[in-house]
Amino acid sequence: MAKKIIIDEDLCEGCETCVELCPDVFELGENGKARVKNPNALNTCNIQEAIDSCPTGALKLEE
Ligand code: SF4
Repeated sequence: MAKKIIIDEDLCEGCETCVELCPDVFELGENGKARVKNPNALNTCNIQEAIDSCPTGALKLEE
């Protein structure tokens, strides 16, 4: 099963760390929160590092 990245928008504070680490996966939406740009690009970056680097723990990987 493909893994899926989940963003908890209530927790996201728009710091853009995940966007910097995984620019193919994440982008910042008009609401100032991260959103998934391409769910199929998880292998283009270190997604675990992005998850671990999120200051609010807003990112989760779902199997
Ligand atoms: S690293 Fe976390 S808080 Fe920062 S923009 Fe990404 S999801 Fe939001």
